[in-house]
Amino acid sequence: MFLCCMFFVAASLNSAKAQWEPVKYDMDIRVDYASAKIYADCKLTVTNTSTGPSRNLPLLLYRLLSVSSVTDMQGNALPFEQNIKAFDEIPRLQVNVVSIELPEKLEEGEEYSVHIKYEGFIFGYTEAIGGYVRERIEEPFTILRQDSYAYPQPGHPTIESMMHVMHHSYDYKVNITVPEHLVVANGGKFVSKTSKNGYTSYTYRNIKPAWRMDFAIASYEIMEDSGIRMFYFSALDEEARDLMGVLKNTMALFTEWFGPLKDFESFSVIQVPAGYGSQMDVTSIIQSGEVFTRDDINANLNLYHELSHLWHPMEIEPRPPSRWNEGLATFTEYLAAEKLEERSGLVEKSSMAISQNFVNRCKNMPNCRETPLIDYGKARMTQHSYTKGMVLFHVLYELIGHDEFMGLIQRYYQAYYKTGGSTHDLTEMIKELPHEGLTRFVDEWFYGTRSSEYLFEGKSVEEIVSIYNE
Ligand SMILES: [Zn+2]
Repeated sequence: MFLCCMFFVAASLNSAKAQWEPVKYDMDIRVDYASAKIYADCKLTVTNTSTGPSRNLPLLLYRLLSVSSVTDMQGNALPFEQNIKAFDEIPRLQVNVVSIELPEKLEEGEEYSVHIKYEGFIFGYTEAIGGYVRERIEEPFTILRQDSYAYPQPGHPTIESMMHVMHHSYDYKVNITVPEHLVVANGGKFVSKTSKNGYTSYTYRNIKPAWRMDFAIASYEIMEDSGIRMFYFSALDEEARDLMGVLKNTMALFTEWFGPLKDFESFSVIQVPAGYGSQMDVTSIIQSGEVFTRDDINANLNLYHELSHLWHPMEIEPRPPSRWNEGLATFTEYLAAEKLEERSGLVEKSSMAISQNFVNRCKNMPNCRETPLIDYGKARMTQHSYTKGMVLFHVLYELIGHDEFMGLIQRYYQAYYKTGGSTHDLTEMIKELPHEGLTRFVDEWFYGTRSSEYLFEGKSVEEIVSIYNE
């Protein structure tokens, strides 16, 4: 797990409905390295998702990006203000808070499009957000992404707004113009590339509804095989070839385990320099160079983790999701390493360490022992979904066996990949399996806290499994 992701996990999600959600971005961005600036033209469609009418559209933009004009789609100017403000809870994190007055109030569910022109510099956020947002507009590498507010995002300078971006679901079509020796990498569908006067414009659109857009710019090499597209630095040609092999083997293993992926168009891996953080969106992973050189024995674990998420239906809950998917992905990453890297005993060993990690963190956290997994979202404790959630799936795996376990995950994916599924949907499927202890298992691990006591008592997975086999 990486800094960027841990930051999100630590702060966890909030359920409150945001006032505005992005529906569509239609953007043109010119990157000018001579002035270290970007010039952007953004047509943004938003919808009012609150329960009442509203006329004021609040947007967040990077602190050194400045809006020069806002109009409606007919070109009529709309009044707006912009002010640099710090986040309520993070005084070091400053953003340009843009407030646009719409011509009239928008009712709940109504959409509206604004045309925003902005320009300026990006110098990262090394002073905040864990230090991985270190981008600048410079060669040989830059990245335009959600984390640095390189494009306007509806919201307020609060942690709640920041966390809410993960629930966004929008379409995008973005055209980025760079000097012709550079390549723009994005995880969406490559639409076109046109060159003129020493500059090349790359156009991408999203493949699935997106919650973030990332555009990495460098003199990338591109490798494509079996729907996997890799953008990598040319010095790592051999490593990239190896990594492609790892990705293909992993996809093949997961297809064998979880069944064929539905609606698979392409999946991209985009290399970024060390220290820029690793990230996953719906159809791509951004990975720093360490993963390509794979000096660390555990370098592939994160890849397995992220790829396994492709088989996870969206968690749909009336309350903030507990994100048990993270427990499943964490369990899967160790199981995949056991299989693909012939590291027998790795799941058992990791599970013990992870249990201990859960106990150590939980004992110093108010209400942790009394909070069941189902409430981790509401209680802002989803960091335990990775740890205790991993042990949960390990116990289940040992209890019902490999084939039954994979069959379950396959059926859940088949049933809910389109609509998303809830914890209840999963636990009902578990209880349908022909095993006596499963009702008790579900009650104790998803909805109750007896499971935490087993871990506090230092019980091994084997000992816990035997409880349900009595
Ligand atoms: Zn994950």
